[in-house]
Amino acid sequence: MVKAVRSLTIRHVDAGSCNGCEQELTALTGPDYDLQRYGLDIVASPRHADALLVTGPVTDTMFLPMLRVWEAIPAPKVAIAFGDCAAGCGAFQHCYASHQGLAAADIVVRGCPPEPGEALEVLRRWLASLHGGWNAPPRSAGDAK
Ligand code: SF4
Repeated sequence: MVKAVRSLTIRHVDAGSCNGCEQELTALTGPDYDLQRYGLDIVASPRHADALLVTGPVTDTMFLPMLRVWEAIPAPKVAIAFGDCAAGCGAFQHCYASHQGLAAADIVVRGCPPEPGEALEVLRRWLASLHGGWNAPPRSAGDAK
C-alpha cells in the first residue's frame, strides 16, 4: 500500500516521562514553533493518527496501554521515540520498572528533553525523505517495543 504523505498526525503517549519532554512537546504546538504549519499535528484519537509518539522510558504500568494505542493506529504507521528516555538512553533507563524505551522506533528525537526547534527539524526531514510516498509496511503491535 502506498499512501501519499504531506502530513503526519501524531498520537502522544506519556510512558513514564518526568514531564520535561511534554513541556517541549507543548512548545511545538505554540505560536513560536507552530508545527501545524508544516503539516504536523498532535491528535487526540489514535484512529486519526499516522504515528505513535512516546515519551519516557516505557514503564511496566504504561507498556500495555502504549501497545493498545499502537494497535489502534491504522497502518501504515510509524513509532517516534521523543527524548532520550524513549530512545533507550535516558536518565531512567536502568530503573527497576523501565523497559528502556522503544526498541523499534522509526524516528528518534534525541535530547533530555529535545529542543523544540531540533525536534521539528527531525520530523520535517523525515517527512521530506518520503518524497511524497509512503510505503512503510504494516507492523505488528510487538514491533513497538
Ligand atoms: S528524556 Fe529527559 S526530559 Fe524527557 S522524560 Fe527523560 S529525563 Fe525527562
